[in-house]
Formats: sequence, structure tokens, C-alpha cells
Amino acid sequence: MKSDQEREAHKRFLKALQHEHLTCTKPGCGGAMEVVDHTLHSARIKTYEAACEQCHTVEHITGKETHQPAWDVASITLMAESHLLHDQPTCPFDETPITFVSLHNPRRRARYRLLCYYCGRHAEMNWPPPEAKR
Ligand SMILES: [Zn+2]
Ligand SMILES: [Zn+2]
Repeated sequence: MKSDQEREAHKRFLKALQHEHLTCTKPGCGGAMEVVDHTLHSARIKTYEAACEQCHTVEHITGKETHQPAWDVASITLMAESHLLHDQPTCPFDETPITFVSLHNPRRRARYRLLCYYCGRHAEMNWPPPEAKR
């Protein structure tokens, strides 16, 4: 489904997303990279700029926005359930860890937004999900 190049780019994206150590890919360098988050406030996908502290190579690391096909109800429920169990749910399309954002909603129940910062897919749901109620 993905080319080697895409797979590699996704791996580097995950490291940036999870604040893991990135090393320069330039042959013979392997220097540590400083990663800065350049994501625009309204953006659905994350954009990073990594700069090698050794050779000053700049690498742009971004998600790949894809909205189709959208998440179906079953996969949204599955993600919510693993979040409830304190597991890290991942996007069923690209295996990127999902981010849960609490939405302020003073008059109603808690609402959460689920986001995949790689593909930009997102969903909103009431919290706790109906099936978790007694
Ligand atoms: Zn370098
Ligand atoms: Zn995704």
C-alpha cells in the first residue's frame, strides 16, 4: 500500500510526533536533529522542520493529508475503547497514534475530538461513549 519512501517518511513523522530523537539522514553525518513544530493553528496535519546540528541540513517532515475513506463508526468506537483502557489507539489507515482533544462544552456532556495528525482524519464524539455507560 505504501512505497518504501513513504514508509520511511512516516517513520520519521512518528518520531517527530512523539518527540523522539531524530538523526540526520545525510550519508556520513548522522548528527542529532533539532525538531521544531511548524503546524499552523488551523491545520489538520502536523508540519515539522528538522535541522541537523552538525551539517545544518534542513528536513521538512509533514503528514500526508488523506480524508477518504473516512473512519467508520466501528473504528472510531475501537479507538475510543482503547483510549478508555489507557492504550494508545492508532489510526486504522496509517497506524499513527491518535490524539484526543477535550472540547469545552459547558452545557452538555464532555465532547472529544479524535485526530490523526498524519492523515488529518478526525471525528468528534460524546464522552464517555454510549456503550461505556451503565
Ligand atoms: Zn547532518
Ligand atoms: Zn491517519
